[in-house]
Amino acid sequence: MEIQKRLSACWDRIVSCFRKPEQPKTGGSNKDTTFFTNGHTDEPKPFNRLAPAPSRNHYLALYDYSARTADDLSFNTGDKLEALSKDAGEWWFAKALTGISINRTGYIPANYVAPVESIDAEPWYFPDTKRLDAEKMLLAEGNNHGAFLIRNCESQKGELSLSVLDHGRVKHYKLKKLENGQYFVSRTKSFETLKELVEWYTVQADGLCVRLGEPCKKLEAPTTYGLSYNTVDTWEIDRKSIKLGKKLGAGQFGEVYEGLWNDTTAVAVKTLKPGSMDPGDFLREAQFMKRLRHAKLIQLYAVCTMEEPIYIITELMRHGSLLEYLQMDKGNDLGLSDQIEMAAQVASGMAYLEQQNYIHRDLAARNVLVGENNICKVADFGLARVFMVKNENVYEAKEGGKFPVKWTAPEAIQDGIFSIKSDVWSFGILLYEIMTFGQTPYPAMTNYQVVQKILEGYRMPPPAKCPKPLYGIMSDCWKRDPQDRPTFETLQWKLEDFFDLDTTSYDDANRYHS
Ligand code: AMP
Repeated sequence: MEIQKRLSACWDRIVSCFRKPEQPKTGGSNKDTTFFTNGHTDEPKPFNRLAPAPSRNHYLALYDYSARTADDLSFNTGDKLEALSKDAGEWWFAKALTGISINRTGYIPANYVAPVESIDAEPWYFPDTKRLDAEKMLLAEGNNHGAFLIRNCESQKGELSLSVLDHGRVKHYKLKKLENGQYFVSRTKSFETLKELVEWYTVQADGLCVRLGEPCKKLEAPTTYGLSYNTVDTWEIDRKSIKLGKKLGAGQFGEVYEGLWNDTTAVAVKTLKPGSMDPGDFLREAQFMKRLRHAKLIQLYAVCTMEEPIYIITELMRHGSLLEYLQMDKGNDLGLSDQIEMAAQVASGMAYLEQQNYIHRDLAARNVLVGENNICKVADFGLARVFMVKNENVYEAKEGGKFPVKWTAPEAIQDGIFSIKSDVWSFGILLYEIMTFGQTPYPAMTNYQVVQKILEGYRMPPPAKCPKPLYGIMSDCWKRDPQDRPTFETLQWKLEDFFDLDTTSYDDANRYHS
């Protein structure tokens, strides 16, 4: 009887938790991110001291870019550009000095270029690439034996690592520095610049597993900041500039289509069922959502809110939701390392939200999207909040809105307390979905039974073939006290370091897996 009473109280709370006005969690600490800026120039010395110093406004294209509007410039990797004005922030007004747009002026995405002769302009320099990503990139099609890249070392801030493809396996070396600032792999030979180091090992292996070959191929260009220079601030766009194409899927609140913006740029368009949200509420939330920029978060590009249906324009992910990806044929090709890596990517996106004091509120495999090479990005962050109607100053779930009970932390169910720690709980469930290739959690249990059992202390058993340490991580996410659950930062490194292995030593035990 007592249990029955507690249960029905819980159900009341499931509904009433939506009625609590929520704290604005996104204000204040949202700072402009520098994720895509080009400021990283930690190479102190010029490579060729006899050559005239390059102009500070001369840049080298790191990727191909196809003009999206009449006002921007097309260019190819390796083209030189002169930045004439950087006033527009992440889009610069520039003149092409070489290549297909030579002598023409127009806007360019600033994160596609790097200063000429800076370390960022080197084709082998991949500073913000994690060890796992480096492995994936080097193992991707197009790279041959000896392909390499240099990246920031994850485990030791300020240090660099060299990752090399050797007969289908990737090996990592630390690049250490002498007191005089010279770089070395082995103490027997040091170099003033990284470029000199690369040139040396390109000529001979000299102790490395293989002589350095071609720089690693870049997988894909980064996401631009908004669709173009003039949608960055005025990001309400004319819906006539969007052509809807193939339907990609349908969610609870509307349909998602492939779209073409300005006849040039592939995007995803989420169309919202009329009345599913208050446009004003959405726009307020979207102001924050748009500022959240991370390689593992789906970027919100623009919106059309002037008439219904509201359009939300985001980057397009070729393989759709992680849930479908796991359940379909693609799931058959996934091994344990892929599963862990995908989980690590989600943790990385969530760690960024954690740092920005932002709460997702509906983290689940259905809200993670997959692109080429198993790239995963977290989608729909913050949307759960706006899919509620404001009703006499309280928030309430839209009629017919489904509450994802099986993904929701007990304190959110009981008391309506959503926090980054309730997101961590959901992440544990998402791990379960990944390990079971998209099985519904708590199989054969109803939502009602789940709430009952969870409050009694029940937790799902380990899925088949789930390594013990991974189940340990899941269980940590499901601790009753939110404060006992790990941070996303911890989850990220635990998953990234999951396969840490001791390696046989090279030279002064320098080769490593960090
Ligand atoms: P949602 O309404 O967000 O649940 O989306 C419904 C379905 O549309 C998802 O399950 C995906 O298959 C697809 N989808 C949503 N957003 C995108 C996107 N940005 N790129 C590709 N497919 C998407």
